[in-house]
Amino acid sequence: MRKLLLIFVVFIISTIFSSTTGTAAELPVTHIAFQDQLLDFSEIKVINEDTKVPLEEIAAHLDIPFEIEKVVTYIRKNGIEISYNETSQLTSKDGVALDWTPIVKVDGKLFISVKYIASEIGYKVKTFEKQKTQRIYKEDWAHISHENFEIYLNKILNKKQPSQAKSKANVYLTFDDGPNKFTAINNSILKKYNTKATFFFLGNLMKKNESIINSVVKDGHYIGTHSMTHDKNKVYLSSKSFINEMIEGTKLIKKMTGKDAKLVRTPYGSKPHLTTAMKDELVANGFKLWDWDVDSNDWKYTDKEANKIVQNVKVGVDKAYKSGDQDIIILLHDRSQTTKALPQIIEWLQNEGYTLKTYEPEHHIVQNFLRDNTL
Ligand SMILES: [Zn+2]
Repeated sequence: MRKLLLIFVVFIISTIFSSTTGTAAELPVTHIAFQDQLLDFSEIKVINEDTKVPLEEIAAHLDIPFEIEKVVTYIRKNGIEISYNETSQLTSKDGVALDWTPIVKVDGKLFISVKYIASEIGYKVKTFEKQKTQRIYKEDWAHISHENFEIYLNKILNKKQPSQAKSKANVYLTFDDGPNKFTAINNSILKKYNTKATFFFLGNLMKKNESIINSVVKDGHYIGTHSMTHDKNKVYLSSKSFINEMIEGTKLIKKMTGKDAKLVRTPYGSKPHLTTAMKDELVANGFKLWDWDVDSNDWKYTDKEANKIVQNVKVGVDKAYKSGDQDIIILLHDRSQTTKALPQIIEWLQNEGYTLKTYEPEHHIVQNFLRDNTL
């Protein structure tokens, strides 16, 4: 009888344990979806038999605010507070430490359990084992059935990569106004499609986004400056203040990445703000300047209108190509709605036969509204 009791206790304990840490042996998950869409992550890891993703990225996808105060990271949503203490390596909910570790730090990056964060903020998670996909969803929000979602997954995951025919023209995707949390998502999307882009960063945002900058550099994208402040009244106050913003911006890039950044994008474009004196300062200091061929107008739209951004790019690129342009530069931003449009933009460009490139200083292309060949 005592033996039976012991077996029973062991059974109960193991049941409780496995229900708090997820299924005992989780298969490697390679895709995470939210409602009806696949999400992009730079990494998905199975740690302690539980699927985890970068906290910074899932926070951006699910609109979960988080804050870092010294060694503690806080997530606050729907009246609950989840925190991770780097020193103790413990996760707490409303100040009470948990007996397992839904949040872990790997190579300086925080990863969080998909099942844990989803359930804490009121979502459910369904695992599609064959498709190695975890779907986060909310019962009372409109979404297609699991059955139909599985059909969708099969379709999208089996799609073959387009064959590499002869390139029509080069296309340069450029992202202004980062680094911020959307830079990380844009970067992971670019990585997924094995493609490169160009980022124009704001100096004042760089210092607090070091890890994002490091991954952008590591993945081979070019970083140029977009000024320190982006403040029209400061940047364009005088040729002195203008060139100082550019020089400071490039110095910071050099300091944080070790790279020379001689390509600038001036806030709001070169026209009509740039005076002749400012242009002369750029030339004298060895800078190059890029405006753009295609304006996506992405900043105008909400997440739900992301298809309009895709449409603007399609129309603009078609027009530029038909006019004979062989190097087409597209203006985008590190913003939420742009992350929603980006996969479709890349897929369309690749299917149409364009080659996506990052800026190459050794093969500089002149593209400025001033029509100045020295820039
Ligand atoms: Zn800007």
